[in-house]
Amino acid sequence: MAKVKVGINGYGTSGKRVADAVSKQDDMEVVGVTKTKPTFEAQTAADKGYSIYAPEGSMQAFKDAGIPVKGSIKDLYKASEIIVDCTPGDVGATYKAQYEAAEIKAIFQGGEDHSLTGISFNSTANYSESWGAQFSRVVSCNTTGLLRTLNPIDRVIKITNVNATLIRRGADPGDSKGGPINGLEPTVKLPTHHGPDVKSVMPWLNINTMAVKASTTLMHLHTVAVELQRESNTEEVLGIMRVSPRVKLIKSNSGLKGTGEIMELGKDLGRDRSDMYEIVVWEDGVKVVGKMLYYYQAVHQESDVVPENVDCIRSMCKMEENPSASIAKTNKALGISR
Ligand code: NAD
Repeated sequence: MAKVKVGINGYGTSGKRVADAVSKQDDMEVVGVTKTKPTFEAQTAADKGYSIYAPEGSMQAFKDAGIPVKGSIKDLYKASEIIVDCTPGDVGATYKAQYEAAEIKAIFQGGEDHSLTGISFNSTANYSESWGAQFSRVVSCNTTGLLRTLNPIDRVIKITNVNATLIRRGADPGDSKGGPINGLEPTVKLPTHHGPDVKSVMPWLNINTMAVKASTTLMHLHTVAVELQRESNTEEVLGIMRVSPRVKLIKSNSGLKGTGEIMELGKDLGRDRSDMYEIVVWEDGVKVVGKMLYYYQAVHQESDVVPENVDCIRSMCKMEENPSASIAKTNKALGISR
């Protein structure tokens, strides 16, 4: 079977990871990535063998920097069956009309609104909703984190209500503009957008979220309080989490006390860029009291949505009808155990 041709528009934090993840699959290939400026990332992409496409007005700058450019961004559309748009939040929306005109499919990221596509994607929760779609949107890192754990629990026990507090990283490690560099910054507009974003995939779920930005770059940390429809116990919930795709249970007494150690684990596992694709839940921090479930989870913002983008390509391009089969295939290629 011919490999599906994938173009990546925006080769930054998410785009470069998605490009490498797509390259590792045997049923799809990267036909090119876009860069707006001849930065070190453009040079690295060229060194890796990716074809670079750039805006018409930037071609000379790339030539001056000695970085080969294969064509314009519009030329990439002609070479691609599907674009994964990894441009910054709200920039993706400005490209939608071009993708429509070029009659190609496109995946947007969590920085765009759900209304842009009308379909939002999470591999575990709603893989089939994007089947054959022209446009879909992989929800944000935090929303992916909440869906990965809440959806399997809701399927088995049913959830009445969720209250989650997100302690968010202030910036990505390579971002020198974000912050705060010291202090904690609450998001005062409540509920934060994360709850409604979860509802873009699980519309029936009652969920409210609060968020605090913290001076860390490594990961987000969620504290989640869930009211279940019936009484349960800690072992039942752990049993669900143990078989949930891309959820990793860890124990604090193994030395994994915080996000710093989890990132160290990513390095030890030999992952690309030491990424931690799974949502990491502290097993000894899961507690059920009657109908109330409490847990903590850590979210590696730079990478948890990467496998979801691969699965979303398979759903939109009608490559694999069975969600579990796509998840397993993506996982195997990326070294994710479940
Ligand atoms: P980024 O800033 O790291 O990368 C964006 C890339 O797009 C850069 O290479 C930039 O040069 C390029 N770009 C800027 N304007 C462009 C344009 N007009 N045309 C083409 N390329 C352009 O951003 P990111 O963190 O990778 O975020 C991309 C999307 O992924 C956003 O929607 C974001 O909300 C979402 N997302 C980010 C994270 C994260 O933590 N970084 C996690 C999940 C989802």
